[in-house]
Amino acid sequence: MSNIEGKVVVITGASSGIGEATARLLAQKGVHVVLGARRTDRLEDLVSAIREKGGSADYQKLDVTNQDQMEEFISYAKNKFGRIDVILNNAGVMPLSPLEALKIDEWNRMIDVNIRGVLHGIAAGLPIMKKQKSGQFINIASIGAYTVSPTAAVYCATKFAVRAISEGLRQEVGSDIRVTLVSPGVTESELAESISDKKAQQEMKEFRRISIPAEAISRAIVYAIEQPADVDVSEIIVRPTASPF
Ligand code: NDP
Repeated sequence: MSNIEGKVVVITGASSGIGEATARLLAQKGVHVVLGARRTDRLEDLVSAIREKGGSADYQKLDVTNQDQMEEFISYAKNKFGRIDVILNNAGVMPLSPLEALKIDEWNRMIDVNIRGVLHGIAAGLPIMKKQKSGQFINIASIGAYTVSPTAAVYCATKFAVRAISEGLRQEVGSDIRVTLVSPGVTESELAESISDKKAQQEMKEFRRISIPAEAISRAIVYAIEQPADVDVSEIIVRPTASPF
């Protein structure tokens, strides 16, 4: 029996990639997963697949850029299960381009999803966790939270921000709420599909040639949740062994 059986974990961006893989792995371990994303057809299929294997899963339509929707999403989980053990702030977008391409809408989208989305999750979940005197935020950053490369200035800036916010939150609420930053290297998912800049698209093909499956990140997330309540796994970087990046 897993020591995380029965926990309630809400996951943003659960319709593909790391969020989806983590939902499947946690559900296998007896966790109640509550899944949010915009593509509800994907979430519906995922929830059915998890339930067919005897797992517990629910979903809600969620755009993390919308604070009201985030509040509704978190309240849904709280009302259904009476508490929230973990909020996995995972939703993210990565439309890379050189700054001189001036893709201002894409910059704003990254800021809205990758930074504001995480802040919205914190705003919706923190009062509940403070009242419970327990809980854990797991925020997904990136190796781009530690280094910057051409075409990735804004994306890396958003991930540096997620790292800063996570560390600040950990220092402020540390007495009974855990904060974990998980930073993946290149991982199989749909993330690179949002790149509209042709040159950045081409460069990403080489950059993403060596990758690890999304489940590799899910296992790190499970490890952080499995630790006893007085152990905070604050930062984990998981990258392909063979990748120089
Ligand atoms: P995917 O593109 O496969 O998944 C991204 C998820 O985010 C989707 O479920 C998508 O759902 C969701 N999402 C995007 N915009 C919104 C929004 N406005 N509201 C709600 N959900 C949204 O990529 P990954 O699984 O790779 O990405 C997960 C996280 O991992 C991201 O934060 C990413 O930055 C990070 N990461 C990934 C790496 C990789 O190599 N794959 C490396 C480093 C970090 P929908 O479109 O249905 O809303």
